[in-house]
Amino acid sequence: MRKTIVAGNWKMNLTAAESARLARELLPVAATLNKTEMWVAPSFTALWAVKEVLGTAPVSLGAQNCHWEERGAYTGETSPSMLHEFGCSFALVGHSERRHVFKESEELVSKRVRGAVAHGLTAVLCIGETLAEREAGETESVLAQQLKASLGGDLVRSAEKLVIAYEPVWAIGTGKVASIPEIAHAHSFIHSVVEGLEFPQLPILYGGSVTPDNFSDILSVPTVGGALVGGASLDAAKFIQLLRTSEGISENRAVA
Ligand code: PEP
Repeated sequence: MRKTIVAGNWKMNLTAAESARLARELLPVAATLNKTEMWVAPSFTALWAVKEVLGTAPVSLGAQNCHWEERGAYTGETSPSMLHEFGCSFALVGHSERRHVFKESEELVSKRVRGAVAHGLTAVLCIGETLAEREAGETESVLAQQLKASLGGDLVRSAEKLVIAYEPVWAIGTGKVASIPEIAHAHSFIHSVVEGLEFPQLPILYGGSVTPDNFSDILSVPTVGGALVGGASLDAAKFIQLLRTSEGISENRAVA
């Protein structure tokens, strides 16, 4: 049985000192978790400060993006081997802000997934439809296309190295959480596509305006393996409440 993942994406929000302060507030809870994996993705300049605070605590440290090559003339990028050497265990890839604000293509996202996995990181592949795509009835085709673009071909079929985060673009940072039936439907569809691509069961997270108020309902969907959380993960009290909710609910559920 896989533990529930609660991953905080701190985006470009906290300085190194602020990130260290937040990590320090979260630290006591980390040691008490039995059924939950706590993951954090600070900004690149805060990674060192958070790593120093976390020490040997059972918290996974990750990056918010990564390149695919080990080194080269790629100004502004960070290589997966550099992140791995630093102590990161995962990297977010294809976050909607990368896809929509920075226009990262499917091809680029696919390269990043492969680069992360090839260099020892777990790739958290973020996928999700825009509001216009949902309203046009294209949610399934968009999700299938995003999954096939990144997970097709010769990518190693390892359950350890891949996590999917279903994040409807319209729910990220908007306060509009997807409904339970919408989450359940999208998650089982993602499971079927992943299975069709001959992957073992992968953890599938939900992301999009997760808060302590809605998290237990979201976790009641059996195919939800945890959450990728932006806003609420910046607040220690809320992050801790999410972890506690996960601990309570994960007691009686089998996460695939
Ligand atoms: C995210 O950044 O992936 C996210 C889901 O943000 P928020 O929780 O703020 O919607």
